[in-house]
Amino acid sequence: MQLDQSRIERLAESYFEHLWIIIRDDDRGANLRDFLDPWWSFSKGYPFVGGKHPHYSQRTMNNPCACGHEHKERLRRLDWISDGAAAAKARKVCKNGMKDGKNDLRSPADRLIVDHSVPLAKIYQGIFVDHLDWEKEDLRKFLGHHMKRALLTSEEDRVLDQTRDGQSLKSEMPRDWKWWGDPFARYHARGIAGGTP
Ligand SMILES: [Zn+2]
Repeated sequence: MQLDQSRIERLAESYFEHLWIIIRDDDRGANLRDFLDPWWSFSKGYPFVGGKHPHYSQRTMNNPCACGHEHKERLRRLDWISDGAAAAKARKVCKNGMKDGKNDLRSPADRLIVDHSVPLAKIYQGIFVDHLDWEKEDLRKFLGHHMKRALLTSEEDRVLDQTRDGQSLKSEMPRDWKWWGDPFARYHARGIAGGTP
């Protein structure tokens, strides 16, 4: 499929514009996720865009297969990848044919998930609670720094969810983290090694 890169850039800008209007007018009823994820996808460019021309849409990656039979190029272009996810990709266990009725027979180390490195709940807080005085470019910088998506194994995802020292990192950043700090701090806090792909 031939994709028009300049149109993808315009779509990214249009989602950004929606986000800006939501924040400017303090529209707390809006579902930010409906705008944040498409903004991220279109900003990343054509690998994250699909759909039949002329209908472009973002590609969601809730449960990507480690073998790469879907999303192969996209998995290489996420913002961060854990060593565990890289090892799963090397093992290439395919989710097709690994199901027993409803049960997924893959080990949790071979199942991949795409994580919002700074949880969306935290991003909502950053946008709505902490920065009501923003200009448009402040929002752009904020999203550029904090809106990151990483490839993890479901095993690692569970480690983030666990409560340690009285805190789960499912939808929170570590307590000593501050805005504009390392967006991947949750992974470091739980000993999940990895890096930018
Ligand atoms: Zn597969």
